[in-house]
Amino acid sequence: MEGVARSGVADALERCSPRSITDAEILRVHDQALLEHVAAVDAAGGGRLDSDTVMNQSSLAAARLAAGAVMTAVERLAQPDAGLDAAFCVVRPPGHHATPTQSMGFCLFNSVAIAAAALADAGEKVAIVDFDAHHGNGTQDIFYEDPRVLFASIHQSPLYPGTGALTERGSGAAVGKTINIPVPPNTTGDVVRRALDELIVPAIEAHGTTWLFLSAGFDGHRADPITELGYSSADMADYVRTLVPVVARGRSVTVLEGGYDLQAITDCSAVVAAQLVGERLRLEPATSGGPGDAVVDAALVLAAES
Ligand SMILES: [Zn+2]
Repeated sequence: MEGVARSGVADALERCSPRSITDAEILRVHDQALLEHVAAVDAAGGGRLDSDTVMNQSSLAAARLAAGAVMTAVERLAQPDAGLDAAFCVVRPPGHHATPTQSMGFCLFNSVAIAAAALADAGEKVAIVDFDAHHGNGTQDIFYEDPRVLFASIHQSPLYPGTGALTERGSGAAVGKTINIPVPPNTTGDVVRRALDELIVPAIEAHGTTWLFLSAGFDGHRADPITELGYSSADMADYVRTLVPVVARGRSVTVLEGGYDLQAITDCSAVVAAQLVGERLRLEPATSGGPGDAVVDAALVLAAES
């Protein structure tokens, strides 16, 4: 929120209070046992969901609001007279590791997937681009066999949770609707920009995308203490600048995922908020010269084969 306040575009922003997600909406992508388990841990006052995912007495309410925020954003943008460019959901906890059956990796519910599934059920063609440093394994699992939703992830490898190989490309009718670009440590923004330009933007267009979600983890920033990528805040703004115009005005929702350096996520939030209303704010230069081009080359070869 401090980053958004420092974006210099506060006058251009409309603030929305999120509603809470309903059980029925959660159950679009998660099974009943996951919901019951999270509710039971909440009823006990908190506890551990996996080795690194802990709930306190407020976590369930926060997770319901985080997922509800994405739905609120979609509902607000979809109002016929909205006149809004895009939405930015500044939420915690993140969601992209939560699978149909398991809360994991700090994620209780898959906020982006819940909203994407609701739109797909309403007949929309949805794309999700995940540039968090970690692979969005939960989102991938939820839509792996679902041709209505395109999922593209650029993430560090090796890194938690260990999924997201180049060869994971969807199954059944959805082969090619999952795109993974697992880049090495120290990868810089130029490699991501190339992957977007040559592979992911064309895929979003070919999908006939009507709604776009960005799983915007800011843990790919070079200052992040738990990852090893080489991005700057300017790179994050560039990703948004490239992706959002691929869909119609008012049809993109950028959602915070991970990010563990407070200054970095403040700066990234500032430049992304500015970018979303068409203003160019740069607090540091874009990056280039790191490794990772060979992975983009390999992904392009795979995409051309199908
Ligand atoms: Zn992450």
